[in-house]
Amino acid sequence: MAERNVILLGPPGVGKGTHAERLVEDYGLVHLSTGNILREAAAAGTELGNKAKAYMDAGELVPDELVIGIIRDRLAEDDIKQRGVLLDGFPRTIAQAEALAEVVAQLQLTGLLVINLSASDEVLIRRLSGRRMCDTCDAIFNVDRDGVDVGDDCSECEGGKLYQRSDDKPETIAERLRTYYEQTAPLIGYYTQRGLLIDIDGSAEADEVYERVTASLT
Ligand code: AMP
Repeated sequence: MAERNVILLGPPGVGKGTHAERLVEDYGLVHLSTGNILREAAAAGTELGNKAKAYMDAGELVPDELVIGIIRDRLAEDDIKQRGVLLDGFPRTIAQAEALAEVVAQLQLTGLLVINLSASDEVLIRRLSGRRMCDTCDAIFNVDRDGVDVGDDCSECEGGKLYQRSDDKPETIAERLRTYYEQTAPLIGYYTQRGLLIDIDGSAEADEVYERVTASLT
């Protein structure tokens, strides 16, 4: 049975997705990214996706009941109990954190810890503006770091092409940061009070930050 269940907390652009990709590979955790799930639903035009898309494009949070429902159902599946989960982009509000605490208790998921990555707005804006994503495998790249751009072939999968997320445009980035400070940053205090929070400076190079993240998991 898994004894490690990890929440990656932090503002948009801090590197949650990048480190999540490596953590699931190195630790065998199940990667649960609400952003990826919602983007896939929006691309497929499902009822959930259609509801979520307007919020995502505006840089706002999708209503709690929708994301809580997704996470509650997915966490109940067997692989989570066996391998442990890496939550990336959830929870993002206190209501989501409270719902998660209930599910974690119900399902008896143990060893929960929260890694909080931080960086200045300047670093976040630069990273978000340069981010490119694979349309097939969701791998994350950066124009500055990887020398790639929209339309390039993905180096992580067969046939994927890189694109720029519609919410990585400057107007939406500003709104997403506002949303983060208002609704998600309070989770830092919430998890500190519960003795679960590990703070890591996410502004350095990805490899250096990843080393600090793995050191915190031993
Ligand atoms: P992300 O890929 O984590 O940056 O998420 C992209 C967008 O999906 C966010 O800006 C929100 O609109 C939506 N989203 C992702 N996760 C959540 C969540 N836990 N609660 C509400 N909205 C979310």
